[in-house]
Amino acid sequence: MTTISSVRSTRPDGFAVNTPGKQPAVFMDRDGVLNSTDGFVNSPDDLDKALMPEALKAVARLSQQTDFPIILVTNQAGIDLGKFTPEQNQAIQERLAQRIEEAGGRIDSIYFCPNGKKFVLPEGETDGRKPDAGMFFQAAKDYGPRIDLADSYMIGDMTTDIGAGEKAGATTILVQTGFAGKDGKCDAKPDHVAADLSGAVDWILSQR
Ligand SMILES: [Mg+2]
Repeated sequence: MTTISSVRSTRPDGFAVNTPGKQPAVFMDRDGVLNSTDGFVNSPDDLDKALMPEALKAVARLSQQTDFPIILVTNQAGIDLGKFTPEQNQAIQERLAQRIEEAGGRIDSIYFCPNGKKFVLPEGETDGRKPDAGMFFQAAKDYGPRIDLADSYMIGDMTTDIGAGEKAGATTILVQTGFAGKDGKCDAKPDHVAADLSGAVDWILSQR
């Protein structure tokens, strides 16, 4: 069962750090990692057309070979911008969870950030929108000592993914699908570069 949660912002505290025994989670971005960015994903059917079969297989491999929580962290400003409704977003995320399950994998949680440019960040909070780390901090609160962000991984195709993962204290992996790190939005250096999600999963498995 995949939980799906919206995160606009959160306080950057109130979660366990450096938990005994270390508890990695694998965070990953969606667009450009699980699905191609050739077209917009504004409906479940758009998602089906864009999903990359090799990426679904990679999630299945990670699911079967580890018990690490697998957590999606995805910016979805299209909600605030009116490109699709919150209900359509929910349907898209549910379709994704279903397709991953059908491929033999699991996504434990999906965190999405609907913030558009007009979002006003409350004082003392961290933005959910990457390159800020609000979605990671919210996950760490929700999972408690089951997650140690410092022992976790973040996989993404944009520098904003790498920047957010860095702020969360995670090991960062840039994949060369989607934007392949050529978005130019952040000055962030990944800890590792992989050809695609499959390569990223292989690297994580080789580290454990
Ligand atoms: Mg992306």
